[in-house]
Amino acid sequence: MKKNIHPKYYRTTVRCACGNEIEVGSTKENIRVEICSKCHPFYTGNRGAVVTKRGRVDKFKKKYGLD
Ligand SMILES: [Zn+2]
Repeated sequence: MKKNIHPKYYRTTVRCACGNEIEVGSTKENIRVEICSKCHPFYTGNRGAVVTKRGRVDKFKKKYGLD
């Protein structure tokens, strides 16, 4: 019988650029990601909403000369 057919399965931490850490099971160690479920606009809605809102306000202000 051959052993170690499957790659080693680690219990590892994924570190996001936002500082969030998620523990996951993976065959890789020390995973780094740019974006995670905590900071991704798709999940939180926060970042995307803020950016979109600010952009719109700026456009609005420019349009009506309020800035
Ligand atoms: Zn993140």
